[in-house]
Amino acid sequence: MKRSVSAVSCALAALSTLFAADPRAILSPETRGSAVRLREQAFAGSRAADWARALNDQVGPRLAGSPGDREAVAWALATLKAQGFANVRAEKVKVPVWQRGIETGEVTAPYSQKLTLTALGGSVATPEGGLEAEVLEFDSYEAMEAKPTAVQGKIVFFNKKMKRAVDGSGYGPAVAFRGSGPARAGKLGAAGVLIRSAGTDNERLPHTGMTRYDAAVPKIPAAALSIPDAELLERLIQLGKPVRVRFTLTCRALPEAESANVIGEIVGREKPDEIVLLGAHLDSWDLGTGALDDAAGCGIVIEAARLIGQMRVKPRRTVRVVLFANEESGLAGAIAYAKEHAAELPRHAAAIEADSGTGRPLGLAWNAGPNALPVLTEIAEILSDIGAGELFPGGHGGADISRLVTAGVPLFGLQQDASRYFDYHHTANDTFDKIEPEALDRATAATAVFAYVAAETPEPFEKIPAHKRKLTQF
Ligand SMILES: [Zn+2]
Repeated sequence: MKRSVSAVSCALAALSTLFAADPRAILSPETRGSAVRLREQAFAGSRAADWARALNDQVGPRLAGSPGDREAVAWALATLKAQGFANVRAEKVKVPVWQRGIETGEVTAPYSQKLTLTALGGSVATPEGGLEAEVLEFDSYEAMEAKPTAVQGKIVFFNKKMKRAVDGSGYGPAVAFRGSGPARAGKLGAAGVLIRSAGTDNERLPHTGMTRYDAAVPKIPAAALSIPDAELLERLIQLGKPVRVRFTLTCRALPEAESANVIGEIVGREKPDEIVLLGAHLDSWDLGTGALDDAAGCGIVIEAARLIGQMRVKPRRTVRVVLFANEESGLAGAIAYAKEHAAELPRHAAAIEADSGTGRPLGLAWNAGPNALPVLTEIAEILSDIGAGELFPGGHGGADISRLVTAGVPLFGLQQDASRYFDYHHTANDTFDKIEPEALDRATAATAVFAYVAAETPEPFEKIPAHKRKLTQF
């Protein structure tokens, strides 16, 4: 389907290319004209959803170190080569391997009820035959830590409701319990942990995701309940009688395996060793097929770079697509990239990441030196015609590129409408039917315009000021 912003704005854009008169403009009329053409081309219908579909349908789930992960690396290499990218390569990364096994649960008192749950990534198994104990419910660490002895030998149930928000801001407070709940409860002698899934749906599908144990504390088994099951447990606890649960997990850690960051480039015409990095992650969780998280992002960055590669005059700097390994269960790909490219990071002019699913783009988050703002303001103006003209100061850009902050690499994040993202995130429902191709076209347009301008402006963005180089922990 062909779409166009509007005949009027195209005509205006053409006029502004010919007669650009604004003396304050930083972008040359030619650069601006090329950026507008890129936007129009992507907006009229891009192949972003095709790449996402191919990764989703031909590979499917691709948890780090699994057979699917290896197939994803092969798929990415073949796809980038076939689309004419230069310097296509797989940079090896050692990744942790964890396998899900059987996962079952039930309430055993005061009534019998089946529970739908899934192991948190990295969880240890329960004892054979399952773990059965009384459940204690908390919605904060303060409440749990106020009763340290009560927790001993119990199953701690973190029941924190996640708020739906366009900017996804409900995720942080809810996911905190997934990340560190098992370590904090383990420290007090709990036998196991159940969390209310960090999600905004009411499907009977639990949301998985990584938990981080503390090496100094016993590791206890940890699982996420689907939201309807968390609410059942909550109602039973409100009856005031002891509630007992039994759950069984047979998940396990295996020795590290080899995976890779897959890279392809559109080589710059004038400064080929200066890099504008477009990132997404190739791995996914195992329950669904990783369509939103993050085949969508892979599709967006591959397509944005491919469109730039088709331009008659390539941008000054190199546009580098990096499809990172192991974002979900350890960030090994992000850490390896930052380490192995350390000498090259001073020549990274910008990095942007797409890892927010299929929501329509709202604009760009940014953390860079002061000279970035006037250029971004002009980019935002170009993107406002497709509803993506907002600028959000701050942020880490995305988990995979966030490690580049310490080198001061200017970091940008594609901000998308996340109001429905957490209905599907990390569940069996993260499948290709949720993808909205038109929204991916818009996201591709925004990414392509940003990447092109960042790769073309004569002056690169200034590095992140020293006081804003803070590493985000995931
Ligand atoms: Zn992701």
